[in-house]
Amino acid sequence: MLIRLASPRGFCAGVERAIEIVERALERFGAPIYVRHEVVHNRTVVEGLRAKGVVFVDEVGEVPDGSVVIFSAHGVSRAVQAEANARNVQVFDATCPLVAKVHNEVERSERHGREIVLIGHSGHPEVEGTLGHYDPTDGGAIYLVEDETQAAHLEVRNPEELSVVTQTTLSMDDTAAILAKLEDRFPAISRPRSDDICYATQNRQDAVRELAAESEVVVVVGSRNSSNSNRLRELAERLGARAYLIDDEDDLDRAWLEGVNAVGVTSGASAPEACVEAVVSRLEAWGGALALDQPDRPELVEFSMPKGLR
Ligand code: SF4
Repeated sequence: MLIRLASPRGFCAGVERAIEIVERALERFGAPIYVRHEVVHNRTVVEGLRAKGVVFVDEVGEVPDGSVVIFSAHGVSRAVQAEANARNVQVFDATCPLVAKVHNEVERSERHGREIVLIGHSGHPEVEGTLGHYDPTDGGAIYLVEDETQAAHLEVRNPEELSVVTQTTLSMDDTAAILAKLEDRFPAISRPRSDDICYATQNRQDAVRELAAESEVVVVVGSRNSSNSNRLRELAERLGARAYLIDDEDDLDRAWLEGVNAVGVTSGASAPEACVEAVVSRLEAWGGALALDQPDRPELVEFSMPKGLR
């Protein structure tokens, strides 16, 4: 059985920056450090940080006065920013700059009196944060659309002054179909200048496409609440592979690999490479051999640290 590794895979620049922010804050201020929401959606990362003294909270109100609090990579609404600013706490914002770019697009549209359609998954923290960067009190509106059916039935107040933004970690294919439906219904709708689906999501989906073409089984290393990891598993399955999302090597099931000639391995943008290595070791122990012809496609994106942690 050949083991094929996707490239690129694993940590993106936004996740690396968010974890680095928490680690530098721990070094500089000592435990406990409070993080609003899981800093990135990965069980191994969260458990590792918790062991070092990070306390994960749902709301800023749970954080004691005088503490250091960090916003997760998914971003927060303006109301959460305001709540933290009104408290006696020191805030570091680990919002990925590519999510912050979408927040800026939403705010710009609001200032220009435009309504917004946000394509994304209801309840995801990034979507809640992005919705919370639009203030509807001036009579405008932001509409969440999750799929083509909702796009087909969406009613807006002013179709001539309408913009669209998306969650950063969506399926490129599904989003293209929803955008096409929206453009069909609202021909004047304005798209962002550059795609909101981030480079890391796009690159990992392109890589899993190749993997699924040459592997009967695709294993995606990532947590169940990781949006981009779920999209990788769905895409591999849509392309005909049997695909599984696992946190670590202990989630592997030998029965998945019976009679399989090639297994592909990839990982979501929040999954540590150490988890991938452990999965590959387990597959090797079960008779797999790492393919040596895999391309290496390094990503050169880097984001700087916020002031106070440089
Ligand atoms: Fe940023 Fe994309 Fe990584 Fe999310 S997946 S943290 S948007 S680079």
